[in-house]
Amino acid sequence: HPALALEGVGLRIGGARILDGVDLAVPSGELLGVIGPNGAGKTTLFNVVSGLIAPTAGRVRLNGDDVTRMPVHRRAVAGLGRTFQTSSLFGALTVLENVRQAAQARLGGASSVLRRPRGADAATTRAREALEEVGLAHRAGQQASGLAHGEKRKVEIAMLIAAEPSVILLDEPMAGVGSGDVPAITEVIRQLHRGGRTVLMVEHHMEVVLGLATRVAVMHHGELLAAGTPEDVMANPTVQQAYLGEAV
Ligand code: ADP
Ligand code: MG
Ligand code: MG
Repeated sequence: HPALALEGVGLRIGGARILDGVDLAVPSGELLGVIGPNGAGKTTLFNVVSGLIAPTAGRVRLNGDDVTRMPVHRRAVAGLGRTFQTSSLFGALTVLENVRQAAQARLGGASSVLRRPRGADAATTRAREALEEVGLAHRAGQQASGLAHGEKRKVEIAMLIAAEPSVILLDEPMAGVGSGDVPAITEVIRQLHRGGRTVLMVEHHMEVVLGLATRVAVMHHGELLAAGTPEDVMANPTVQQAYLGEAV
């Protein structure tokens, strides 16, 4: 089975067709760049995949299992992780506490009330490992609100790692990141992918997409316009046409 499959996914809200017949299979271990003009439906597609929005047509499969009607928290336990366009850290908690919470959610299960101290230790260990993987072990004890923006993005990726997802959705990981931080965050995403994880990444920085993606999918007006190698997609006249005169 592909790690993630969309089969004829559609979403109508009122009279508007937000997503239309999206068919996409993402093999395990792929880093798929998702591009397209603003308003194309990229974030909405991620919301459908993660369970925030139910599609009005089609199916979503995670490792072959139909998860179309599965609620967000169960999808997370089934191995789906995501970041958002805006930051989701608890500023008053330390970096380690933020990451530990993500690890605990996976280890303890959302409905577990009785937790043994052993489980707590395991969550701390996993959180420290995840911080090490993104190169932020030295920030563990600091309050999250005091971090630089680029570091916050790395902590969010550490939170993903700690939750051990098999499929990861990154929505504009470079949004708001200063150009000086782009190379370091690119490297963290590369590592995330090297760990054998399947990654879908919406990103407007084309040099980041082309530097990381093994394949690129192009969304336009809620449809999947094309998918293929970065070279093939960028040379596709339909894709070039879609970008003419549109802001990204
Ligand atoms: P992208 O991430 O590609 O910029 P979005 O997925 O955010 O695009 O939006 C796709 C389209 O769907 C836009 O035209 C947006 O206005 C519309 N849209 C998104 N969410 C809703 C909603 N809950 N209700 C109505 N329209 C929506
Ligand atoms: Mg947008
Ligand atoms: Mg978006």
